This record gives sequence, C-alpha cells and structure tokens, in this order.
Amino acid sequence: MSALDHGRISLGAGCVGIAQGCLDASVSYTKERKQFGRPVASFQLVQELLADIAVETEAARLLVWRAAATADRGERHTVEASYAKYFASEVAVRAANAAVQAHGGYGYVDEYPVGKYLRDARVTTLYEGTSQIQKLLIGRALTGENAFT
Ligand SMILES: Cc1cc2nc3c(=O)[nH]c(=O)nc-3n(C[C@H](O)[C@H](O)[C@H](O)COP(=O)(O)OP(=O)(O)OC[C@H]3O[C@@H](n4cnc5c(N)ncnc54)[C@H](O)[C@@H]3O)c2cc1C
Repeated sequence: MSALDHGRISLGAGCVGIAQGCLDASVSYTKERKQFGRPVASFQLVQELLADIAVETEAARLLVWRAAATADRGERHTVEASYAKYFASEVAVRAANAAVQAHGGYGYVDEYPVGKYLRDARVTTLYEGTSQIQKLLIGRALTGENAFT
C-alpha cells in the first residue's frame, strides 16, 4: 500500500503534465485558427474552455506538490496522495476533453496532439486505484468508517 501512496503522486504529476499539454496546445491553436475573420481565441466561450483548463491544472499541480512535500518530509501521505491522484486524473480527462473541443474537428484527428492526450488521460482515472476507490479512501479518512467492507 505504501508503494501505491508513492505511485499515486507520480501518476498525479503525469496528469498535471497532460493537462498542461492540453492548455499549451489549446492556447497555441486557438490563437492561430481564424473563424469569422478573427482568431477563435477571441471568442468568450473559447476563453472559458481555456480558463477552466488553466485553473484546474494549477489546482491539481498544488495538490500533487502538497502530497510530494508530505512524502518528502517522511510523513504518512496516503490521503494526500488520494486527493492528488483523484483530482489530477479527473482534471486531465476534463482538460483533454476541453482541448479537443477547442480544436474543433482537428481535435479528433491525429494532426494535432490533443486526441492522443484524451486517450492518455482516460486511463488515469482507472489504474493505481479508480476515482471511486480514491473517494472511499478519502471518505474513510474523514469519517473513520470503512466503506470497503
Ligand atoms: C493500462 C492499464 C495498466 C494497468 N497496469 C497495472 C499494473 O501495472 N499493476 C496492477 O496491479 N494493475 C494494473 N492495472 C489494473 C488496474 O489497477 C485496475 O484496472 C484498476 O484498479 C481497476 O480494477 P478493475 O479493472 O478490476 O475494475 P473493478 O474493480 O472491476 O471496477 C469496476 C467499477 O467498479 C467500481 N468499484 C469497484 N469496487 C468498488 C467499491 N468498493 N466501491 C465503489 N465502486 C467500486 C470501480 O471504481 C469501477 O468503476 C492496469 C490497468 C490498465 C487499464
């Protein structure tokens, strides 16, 4: 179980990387792509997609750093790792989905990287303990009640 505590931090860090990649690709593409005579980045609803990815990515990064700092201090970090893994993996999926949306049809084909980011992100809510399992671990820490058994 202690190996999972470490692995979940690494996995969370990878998810932050996917989400940051989604943001970088989406900012770049939406500034370049023009529709109705202007960059699609100038449309408010596109900026909403970018802002949501950006804020969630930063929040996920901070949770991963908190878990890593707790581990570096040699303290028990089971719950911190679950917070980080659960949130960062769900953020990676949302970020990749939003990035595909921001790219329009090009998000779905292989010419741009975000379609691959979506596939890469999707498995992260499953392995190293699914999101449901992370929530059970967090719920057990909050309540002292074990929902596993
Ligand atoms: C690409 C890939 C690589 C993998 N690599 C490894 C590896 O290297 N080592 C390794 O050991 N495993 C590995 N796995 C397995 C992975 O850890 C499991 O797939 C994962 O833990 C989920 O288990 P499961 O597939 O049996 O799903 P199940 O346990 O059958 O879950 C099915 C659904 O039920 C939910 N669920 C299950 N139990 C509960 C519960 N008590 N309460 C609420 N909901 C519940 C789950 O969240 C999920 O939504 C890998 C999986 C994949 C896809």
